Amino acid sequence: MALLEIRNVVKQFDDFTAVNNVSLSVEAGEFFTLLGPSGCGKTTLLRMLAGFEQPDSGQILLDGKDMSQVPPEKRPVHTVFQNYALFPHMTVRENVAFPLKMAGWAKDKIDAQVDELLEDVRLTRFGKRYPHEMSGGQRQRVAIARALVDRPRLLLLDEPLSALDAKLREEMQLELINLQKEVGITFVYVTHDQGEALALSHRIAVMSNGQVEQLDIPENIYGNPKNRFVADFIGQCNVLEGTVKAVDGDTMTVDIKGCGEVKTLAVAGAAVGKPGWLALRPEKIKLDKELPDLPDEAYFKGRIHDCLYLGDVTIYIVEVADGVLIETMLPNNIPGVAKFFDDNDEVEVAWRFDAGRFLFE
Ligand code: ATP
Repeated sequence: MALLEIRNVVKQFDDFTAVNNVSLSVEAGEFFTLLGPSGCGKTTLLRMLAGFEQPDSGQILLDGKDMSQVPPEKRPVHTVFQNYALFPHMTVRENVAFPLKMAGWAKDKIDAQVDELLEDVRLTRFGKRYPHEMSGGQRQRVAIARALVDRPRLLLLDEPLSALDAKLREEMQLELINLQKEVGITFVYVTHDQGEALALSHRIAVMSNGQVEQLDIPENIYGNPKNRFVADFIGQCNVLEGTVKAVDGDTMTVDIKGCGEVKTLAVAGAAVGKPGWLALRPEKIKLDKELPDLPDEAYFKGRIHDCLYLGDVTIYIVEVADGVLIETMLPNNIPGVAKFFDDNDEVEVAWRFDAGRFLFE
């Protein structure tokens, strides 16, 4: 049995449907992420798990038990918010101990449990400090320790790292991964940051317009997007308009608009004449002044349209036909060479037939 089961959940605000018939389940011990752009309904879904909102229809089951009649404070669920929500007049230790005190635990048991949690979040030395004496990352660790101290079945995290700067956010991502492994508690994490979702999660549900577009492990969400929305939203992706020309077993030929025919993997629902898009990640594309024209590769000539130097890599945008741009990426891994091409250089691009995915929706 799944730890959490969401069945056909719908939530409307007046005549606007914020969550539209979502069904999914989360296994015990999973780090599960709801990912999507602003307004897609992920926070509303999380709030229903916490009990702050009630679904209009559908069911939420935790350990097989329907939660509809269980108020937030009675659910074995805690939430960590973006803004920490610590008690400013209490020390770190008092903040973390608070839920146990409210539950009437004995002092020695509270002390032992708080010690353990402070160690888990690497704040053992900070117990006597007040929240205003801590950095943003440290405060968020206190908030997480407090939310975990009475061992909930489920920890909900609503964009908990979005108030931190990029470097600290990366550090905290590593800490969260390790902490979740250590405590073994199921995390449901909400973010609009696709990099964060890919880095942290065992599985991701990508949402838009109140619905789940794709639910899968990060490698499949990135490498095998189900539709154009997921391909576009997750990482950089070239999306080239085309039409199916021929289907032959595991492969098919598609005509990329303005560019010509290429071989690609056959996909379910393919039929000659059907329009769609070839989704292709920049790092899957070879780029050079000259490339061999190999049978298993699609191959186009083009011209450098733009170069974006990013330090570790440079992004080269190549115009392969009038108005058709393909983004490519090369690592800057040769000492002393910061850039391989310049605007207007004539180049060639190529990719293996199985590097892209043809999408019909
Ligand atoms: P964000 O990342 O910006 O928080 P989100 O994906 O979490 O976005 P939600 O907060 O779930 O999105 O909101 C989904 C939609 O429902 C939005 O259009 C929002 O305006 C609307 N909404 C949310 N709560 C309410 C409410 N209490 N009353 C009316 N509309 C609401």
